[in-house]
Amino acid sequence: MTGPQNVGFRIPIDSNGLQVNFCKNPVCPNFGRPADVERQPRGFQQASSQDVYIVAGASDNLHIKCRRCGESPPIKNNLAIREEIERMSDYLKPDQEPTCPNTSCDNRLIGISTPKAYQSFGKTRSGSQRYRCRLCNTTFSVSSNPSS
Ligand SMILES: [Zn+2]
Ligand SMILES: [Zn+2]
Repeated sequence: MTGPQNVGFRIPIDSNGLQVNFCKNPVCPNFGRPADVERQPRGFQQASSQDVYIVAGASDNLHIKCRRCGESPPIKNNLAIREEIERMSDYLKPDQEPTCPNTSCDNRLIGISTPKAYQSFGKTRSGSQRYRCRLCNTTFSVSSNPSS
């Protein structure tokens, strides 16, 4: 990470559109409505222009307090959460089917299960299945996946 991302802001700025700092009370009108990252004007006369959340707490334990329902979820680092989501969705991505490793070959985007695109070509010493591309004759091995 490149230093604190919330310098000049009262809560962490969004990370590629992800802003998780909002009221977590599902029946509250502010549910899912992100807090304003800008510092808020002080004084009651400007109350109408103020954000619906108040930032409160010690600097190492900040939370936003919802002015509608009083819920006060801790302030989260959007970047860390996005990284977490990406890690999880990476995990959920189906295994990509191996294809011809020759980047100039038309089979580059054709998976090895495609009929007639490849032929099996024995096994490597480590027991991986080898294939030969029928278009460019490139041979390549596909490590066997023990979980499948
Ligand atoms: Zn609320
Ligand atoms: Zn090929």
